[in-house]
Amino acid sequence: MAQEFPQPIDSVLTPRFGAIATFMRLPHMTDPAKLDIALVGVPWDGGTTNRPGARHGPRQIRDMSAMMRRVHPTSMVAPFEIARIADLGDSPVNPIDVMDSLVRIEKCFAAIHAAGCMPLAAGGDHLITLPIFRAIARNRPIGMIHVDAHCDTNDTYFGGYKYTHGTPFRRAVEEGLLDPKRVVQIGIRASMYAKDDNDFSHSSGMRVIEMQEVEKIGIDAVIAEARRVAGDGPTYISFDVDGLDPVFAPGTGTPETGGLTTREALTLLRGLRGLNLVGGDVVEVSPPFDASGNTALVGASMMFEIMCLMAECVAKRR
Ligand code: MN
Ligand code: MN
Repeated sequence: MAQEFPQPIDSVLTPRFGAIATFMRLPHMTDPAKLDIALVGVPWDGGTTNRPGARHGPRQIRDMSAMMRRVHPTSMVAPFEIARIADLGDSPVNPIDVMDSLVRIEKCFAAIHAAGCMPLAAGGDHLITLPIFRAIARNRPIGMIHVDAHCDTNDTYFGGYKYTHGTPFRRAVEEGLLDPKRVVQIGIRASMYAKDDNDFSHSSGMRVIEMQEVEKIGIDAVIAEARRVAGDGPTYISFDVDGLDPVFAPGTGTPETGGLTTREALTLLRGLRGLNLVGGDVVEVSPPFDASGNTALVGASMMFEIMCLMAECVAKRR
């Protein structure tokens, strides 16, 4: 079993501050065909329109992911016993070229997808989700549960520029990768450039649950709504750490006050067991703005939650 199912370094024998940092203390492997779930860093923030630094996210999340143990505290899922999971390293990127980076990231995730392996990415800014979709959703549009302060469905920035971390989901719908009727956006609350910023989300049929509605209906109702919208079809979970309140996650490029608590986010993710998952990511952790390191811990924790959901999925399909 040890060979077939990669195991994390035993933290009872080797303390968690020791050894080389990998996601969840798992081995670093290079062949996705040997895995059910690949944890992949995307150290790139070339789509960032405001404060940068998310390119440093994967390393910091790897470091803080050493805090995670082997068994989920409420579901009792032991992900490394039921799924083959490892750290697949980082996607190739080009820090000085957006379009080239999109090609490189897509190629990396296409190889993972072709091997029958499910990716869980650590960003990076939110534009990385677009090339991941290009890699895993070419043959059919997917649904998405999207936690964020922003809809990320703007059209262009800076005079017609179409590829930024504020535009990925509009592009994904235009390219036929994302089924907007199976998309739920949770935690939306940012001030806007213009009154029509979020119109594309609404007109394309996405279910937008703004923060004020979250507060009004409560997390259990948000979970029910997310499950209704996503249904049984292939679904991706995209977690922008700025969906959380900056009190909990200050280390991000575009913080917005009045967001989700970490407890609400954990409850939300824990309410998503049994969905038909095809991938996921945690994005926008920016270590230069993360003085305490807590945002990277939060990012690693959300990755752990999504990884446990994916592991159950994999085990069910086997
Ligand atoms: Mn975002
Ligand atoms: Mn955001």
